Amino acid sequence: MKRLSAVPSGEPIAISATLFVTYRRCPQQALARLRGVYPEPSRATFKGALAHRIFARHLTDGPIGEEGFNLVCRQETGANLSGQMAAAGLRKPSEFDAVVSEIADLYERFRRLPADGFTSAEVAFDHDVTDDIAVRGRIDAVFEGDAGARLVDWKTGSDLGHDVEAQLGFYAFTWSLENGSPPAETVAVSLATGERVASNPSADDVAAIEDEVASMVVALRSALEAETDLSRTAGPYCRWCPICPECSEGKAAVALLG
Ligand code: SF4
Repeated sequence: MKRLSAVPSGEPIAISATLFVTYRRCPQQALARLRGVYPEPSRATFKGALAHRIFARHLTDGPIGEEGFNLVCRQETGANLSGQMAAAGLRKPSEFDAVVSEIADLYERFRRLPADGFTSAEVAFDHDVTDDIAVRGRIDAVFEGDAGARLVDWKTGSDLGHDVEAQLGFYAFTWSLENGSPPAETVAVSLATGERVASNPSADDVAAIEDEVASMVVALRSALEAETDLSRTAGPYCRWCPICPECSEGKAAVALLG
């Protein structure tokens, strides 16, 4: 891993899959994240986080019965997600129960997925590439097979999303940082539609992602240091961008898309 470690030193920076994917969409929005401006927590993000806790619990502790499902969701929320739930504005029991009901549907589909070779869920990684560059994140689950490790990302939104390939590429890169070689396979599965994207990343694929990450770090740092902006690339995601109200490109996109 020479390319990222060869980036000149500068402002300490922690790189995540979210920062990388955001930068690919719109460099200015990624810069805003580093300046501390994040999207507001939402019902969808809370639902996704709780669903992933349920999936991890299923894989580590076994299936969750229908009768105890609501209680398990309450336990997981109380232990790990109460702040996120409050920030998403879910205050009434009926609002929570509606989210639980949607998660129960996703869980029914999740239970039908094969779990052979499962080794660990919600695998956190925190790798200091240099004194001032860290790569951080979490992979939903890791499975081991004859060919090697398979990294799996479960999507709880309405579809796989447009950034799924970039996200899987980033996971392969982080896996390589920790393990010295790419995983055998990366997979994303939409629990809403059953859609699936898979890839067998090579060392060259990982090196290409690392080059992109290194260029991103240089661009973000230079904008932070010079207090300048980066390019803006508008799209449907502008409606969720926290700096959209002050971005003419984003406002035009939102108006056009309705
Ligand atoms: S509103 Fe759109 S174009 Fe403007 S910074 Fe945000 S993501 Fe970029």
